[in-house]
Amino acid sequence: MDFDRSGVNALMEITNRPELVFARGWGSWLEDSAGKRYLDFVQGWAVNCLGHCPAPVVAALSAQAGRLINPSPAFYNQPAIDLAKRLVSVSCFDRIFFANSGAEANEGAIKLARKWGRLHRKGAYKIITFDHSFHGRTLATMSASGKPGWDTLFAPQVDGFPKAVLNDLESVRVLIDDRTVAVMLEPVQGEAGVIPATVEFLRQLRQLTEAAGLLLILDEVQTGMGRTGTLFAYEHADITPDIITLGKGIGGGVPLSALCAREAVSCFQPGDQGGTYNGNPLMAAAGVAIFDILTAPGFLASVNERAAQLSEGLLALSSKWGMRGERGAGLLRALVLDRGDAVAIVEAARALTPDGLLLNSPRPELLRFMPALNVSADEVARMLAYLDEAVRKVRGPR
Ligand SMILES: *Cc1c(COP(=O)(O)O)cnc(C)c1O
Repeated sequence: MDFDRSGVNALMEITNRPELVFARGWGSWLEDSAGKRYLDFVQGWAVNCLGHCPAPVVAALSAQAGRLINPSPAFYNQPAIDLAKRLVSVSCFDRIFFANSGAEANEGAIKLARKWGRLHRKGAYKIITFDHSFHGRTLATMSASGKPGWDTLFAPQVDGFPKAVLNDLESVRVLIDDRTVAVMLEPVQGEAGVIPATVEFLRQLRQLTEAAGLLLILDEVQTGMGRTGTLFAYEHADITPDIITLGKGIGGGVPLSALCAREAVSCFQPGDQGGTYNGNPLMAAAGVAIFDILTAPGFLASVNERAAQLSEGLLALSSKWGMRGERGAGLLRALVLDRGDAVAIVEAARALTPDGLLLNSPRPELLRFMPALNVSADEVARMLAYLDEAVRKVRGPR
């Protein structure tokens, strides 16, 4: 162990961390305090969309930090105006509210829908969400989430989030009553194990909500900003949601998220919504730098090329090891194992030498892959070779 552990117990224990400290990162690579390198296919849980410490973001942050960090959300600042204008120009949305985390953007979406219900639906407030969904860790977003066990963890829950079954339209229809104001879902359930809502389901849901006078809210915190091969996942279904939330990739590693709404739904009045750090120019400047790279000609085409390479490679590994295939959208993918040894594989991958590999297992029989969107073909090939080796370490030769 070559890091100073003496202050470790001063941290609240919120997860079991391995005995290592990362000292620096670049692109798809991390280096720990002992000098060992790791190929990173977690990227802070799909946060670092351009990898670690991308030069344009470092430059934007340093330039902005020396100019103006936070004049307060009560005043305009240029980077926030610039980023909002960009998001509006490439989407079906007219108004943006910036926040600092996915959960906070989702809280904003819930508040906006309830305000809209008060104004236009006689006080309707219920938002239909889905089993196994994940919307964040505030009390309201935990209540909106369908993660098993979360209904009692910090009881009582926030009221008004009945749960439907993903890709089952009838299960949504039977929950609608005159207190319902919206339906909210992830286009691909990430934490649940990379389970996509089908294009057909999203289209039917749009028709159903439109006919019933309800809002359709998409939580694109994980799927937005190029992750699935289009800038926003709703584009795959060719639908127009009323509200989406963005997080993770939008800041490329810094705390930035966004609530995006169509004009007709943007009913916040002064005093309804805010927050000390919202839309601060430092984070917005990083967002502008990221946005311009993600939307440059050819960028999303390369995401789709790498996604195809990753998908094919995972499928080949799956058949070699007798696993159950792979699934996902763009560079959000999962390998479905034939047994519950995902945690052991994650640990064996990290322990590989000379380079380690960082992977994530949201479930015991599933590995999730969330590389940087600018990962290279060589790095994808290396990851597949390292993964093969890690599986061999756990299961023996094949
Ligand atoms: C990560 C995530 C969130 C929560 O974002 P935080 O920034 O951790 O608050 C919400 N929804 C989805 C779909 C996510 O993947």
